Amino acid sequence: MTSVPPGDAIVRAREAILATIADAAARSDRPPDAVEIVAVSKTVEADRVRAAVAAGFRAFGENRVQERQAKAAALGDLHAEWHLVGPLQSNKARKAIELFDVIESVDSLELAERLDRLAPEARPGGQLRVLLQVNVDDDPAKSGFVPATLERQLEPLLGLPNVLVEGLMTVGRQAETPEHARPTFVALRDLRERLRGRDSRLGPALSMGMTEDYRVAVEEGATIVRVGRAIFGERPAGR
Ligand SMILES: *Cc1c(COP(=O)(O)O)cnc(C)c1O
Repeated sequence: MTSVPPGDAIVRAREAILATIADAAARSDRPPDAVEIVAVSKTVEADRVRAAVAAGFRAFGENRVQERQAKAAALGDLHAEWHLVGPLQSNKARKAIELFDVIESVDSLELAERLDRLAPEARPGGQLRVLLQVNVDDDPAKSGFVPATLERQLEPLLGLPNVLVEGLMTVGRQAETPEHARPTFVALRDLRERLRGRDSRLGPALSMGMTEDYRVAVEEGATIVRVGRAIFGERPAGR
């Protein structure tokens, strides 16, 4: 019996993803290192996260504060950057600030204001890095700012002193083919251009694209892709 070390599949997955990103980035006239991979490790055991760090992944995504907390305990001071990519309830805001380096899922002015109030104490020494999640397709099943609301609330959002708004994030529509997701990505990029034209305090980051469609997202300008299954394999149903 040959036993394959668990890390091997992750190393191969990383090489394949980097090649896909390099190719797609070239098609949008960008260098491959213009795109950061957030390895989405929800449901993935701590050991496999360690294997992913050994394989070269530097940033990880979780969609639940509690799961991140359990993993933090299991992983100790493993050197990595953690992104919250799932909805954040206000009663977990303080924990989220303590456990995550970037909160990608800021979806209301109220939440941003709360993070701004809590950040100095929960994470002293610097602004809290966030992205604003946008429900570009106005899909009732998704969270995020509706674009018109974001346009209205842009000034107060960017005026919060303890929060650094690095850019925008979206979860693409459930598409039959990656090509179907393209209009969502184009719309997020256009929105970023429009909003930055109005207020350059908004950062340029665009977090868009997952396993099924990150290639298309990078072609349309993604600076962050959030990839889970292509790295770690399928998850239990519903996660
Ligand atoms: C799970 C998740 C991902 C990763 O999805 P995959 O299809 O496994 O690549 C990306 N973004 C968010 C918000 C997620 O919840």
